[in-house]
Amino acid sequence: MKIAVLPGDGIGTEIVAEAIRVLDALDLSFEMETALVGGAAYEAHGHPLPESTLKLAKEADAVLFGAVGDWKYDKLDRPLRPEQAILGLRKNLGLFANFRPAICYEQLVDASSLKPELIAGLDILIIRELTGDIYFGQPRGRRTAADGHFPGAEEAFDTMRYSRPEVERIARVAFEAARKRNKRVTSVDKANVLETFQFWKDVVTEVHKDYPDIELDHMYVDNAAMQLVKAPKKFDVIVTGNMFGDILSDEAAMLTGSIGMLPSASLNSSNQGLYEPSHGSAPDIAGKGVANPLATILSAAMMLRFSLNQAEAADRIESAVKHVLASGLRTGDIWSEGTKRVGTREMGDAVVAAITKKTITG
Ligand code: NAD
Repeated sequence: MKIAVLPGDGIGTEIVAEAIRVLDALDLSFEMETALVGGAAYEAHGHPLPESTLKLAKEADAVLFGAVGDWKYDKLDRPLRPEQAILGLRKNLGLFANFRPAICYEQLVDASSLKPELIAGLDILIIRELTGDIYFGQPRGRRTAADGHFPGAEEAFDTMRYSRPEVERIARVAFEAARKRNKRVTSVDKANVLETFQFWKDVVTEVHKDYPDIELDHMYVDNAAMQLVKAPKKFDVIVTGNMFGDILSDEAAMLTGSIGMLPSASLNSSNQGLYEPSHGSAPDIAGKGVANPLATILSAAMMLRFSLNQAEAADRIESAVKHVLASGLRTGDIWSEGTKRVGTREMGDAVVAAITKKTITG
């Protein structure tokens, strides 16, 4: 099992270091190789995704990714900005399915801005299509309008498109994932207005014929955005396109109130995947040793489950995280009255201790 470790920038190096210690504590035999990505790679090699990093990622069974970016790179030409590394990895590895679980841990119910009874026990999975839609559709650009409300004016345009195989494969991923959960899929679209999403809905409905054991319903994206804050626990698996998924997965992430807790996975058709926390490089707290490493540690658990076929080891990590939260340890982002504030390293230590069954302090 080969893991490419790409810590990146800002808190990326601090949180990935803890995830690696947790993986080491499992006593499984991994080959791990680290490479630069993002701003760190730009500084060293003049590019956010150097050829050598891409080669390592392609050859690995899985990529464990920290975060990239810093405001100091905002003025660079777009292709050289750190965030381009993520797009390059998605494209080159063919990562088309993004998994974003939103789980509300019992002990962190108060971190949510929603009432505890709405959020307690929340466990939903958003599956976002990652390589198509209006984000990548051609043509796109700026031009002088030939028609519309203001002919002759400057205008910008993008193209929303999905092909049948693109929708079929993400629908299958969603139905398969639901089979391992509560067997319900909600497909989110805007079929009432957009031709692309009427097509999406038709194709998802056709694929569903192969999954009679799974309950499927369809919801317009505006309603889904409302239902996520009104009754989030009604969902099990949500599947949607690239743009709606981008927005809804962030909304769902914030339901739990703690971005430092949320893992994510992006998979291709051979289950090779990139695993990263849902948050960014947090330049405001980088280097201070206060970042929450749990999203990255939980991403490592997803990596074990989805790409490395080590479900039992993934369970061990997830149980250890629950145990540590129950013991009252909290990084600053999830701290509340009556709990003990710890730093990145101490949080990593506690998870390692729980895995190796040593006493947890705190
Ligand atoms: P961010 O997620 O980095 O930070 C938002 C807020 O959450 C900050 O206050 C930060 O301190 C806090 N936070 C984030 N992760 C935390 C953690 N693990 N523990 C404790 N607190 C945490 O988003 P941002 O500030 O909008 O962006 C910062 C940089 O990260 C930008 O350059 C952006 O482009 C980049 N970014 C990268 C990714 C990625 O690598 N996948 C994703 C989003 C943003």
